[in-house]
Amino acid sequence: MDSAKVYFTNMRTKVGESLLVKLDRLIVKAGIKEIDFKQKYVAIKIHFGEPGNLAFLRPNFAKVVADRIKTLGGMPFLTDCNTLYVGRRNNALVHMDAAFENGYTPFSTGVQNIIADGLRGTDDVDVPVKDGKYCKVAHIGRAIMDADIIISLNHFKGHELTGFGGALKNIGMGSGSRAGKMAMHNDGKPEVSKADCIGCKICTRFCNQGAISFGADKKAVIDHKKCVGCGRCIGACSKNAISNNESSSNDALNFKIAEYSKAVLDGRPHFHISVVNQVSPYCDCHEESDAAVIPDIGIFASFDPVALDKACIDAVNAASGIATSILGDREHTHKLPNGEDHFTDIHPTTDWRTQIAHAEKIGLGTGNYELITVK
Ligand code: SF4
Ligand code: SF4
Repeated sequence: MDSAKVYFTNMRTKVGESLLVKLDRLIVKAGIKEIDFKQKYVAIKIHFGEPGNLAFLRPNFAKVVADRIKTLGGMPFLTDCNTLYVGRRNNALVHMDAAFENGYTPFSTGVQNIIADGLRGTDDVDVPVKDGKYCKVAHIGRAIMDADIIISLNHFKGHELTGFGGALKNIGMGSGSRAGKMAMHNDGKPEVSKADCIGCKICTRFCNQGAISFGADKKAVIDHKKCVGCGRCIGACSKNAISNNESSSNDALNFKIAEYSKAVLDGRPHFHISVVNQVSPYCDCHEESDAAVIPDIGIFASFDPVALDKACIDAVNAASGIATSILGDREHTHKLPNGEDHFTDIHPTTDWRTQIAHAEKIGLGTGNYELITVK
């Protein structure tokens, strides 16, 4: 397959010129003006950040993108769908509160926030997945499907189930309604290692499904009939006693994320931006954000979400890991020609390649890219 163009600017700034000015220059150079925005509804898919997490994208980035779209005649809004798990984003009321708390208000970004799948996460559209092998239909938040154009604005980081979280994760998983997220997760039900469990019960606080109980030995047990595979308990356990040892189920999740992304993007203009800063080991869905695993890299933009994710993966893996982060606790056993495979060192039961490879296979884009630097 031909390569796609990915545009990149680093985090350096000159005196008197903000990184936000560089972001606008980047997206213009990357071709955002080629899209006809006039009088079109434009969904800017974003993650507002779980309250407590400090690695999520600042709203300032969203304002730059929204302002550019308005200048081009579009009608942008910021959007995300509700979560499956316990937290402050699992219905539209608390989700809106969380967005405001994290600074995403019409006063700061100049646009409205819309929770795409409604009050309870049930307002969705069944979208056929062209060439889908794992999902024939994707359940997507209605407001996202009602939009004429999709822009993804992504914070690039690690993820405990998928290896990394970038454009495809933001679009595919993030646009799924409650039913969609359950369908994507349902191959991955974690297990508890009795040898490692100390019975602290912290994991139960993170399980929205009441799936974790305790036996006479005071060790956690997961009821797979109740578990929806959301993976929240995995990150919650400080003893690493919970894991999804079936790497095949993590692969299945990656395949489905690629297919959900295709359902969202097929037939509509789309454009993608990823900020590679504060690269935390876990998703911004966590109420904590562990120390960044590499130094900040920059901002990437492309029409091709697959090329964009691959460029970000390569940039992260080429960077030196920070010894005071979780990478300092890990064995560095996964090597690549261009560096170390930080994602697999951090989350050894995940394989980021499966998401990229399946996205390529179903025609969502290409992992081959030409990197163009914008000063
Ligand atoms: S959080 Fe971990 S150690 Fe604590 S009860 Fe749950 S599985 Fe066991
Ligand atoms: S037990 Fe299942 S449903 Fe509960 S937090 Fe863990 S993965 Fe999610």
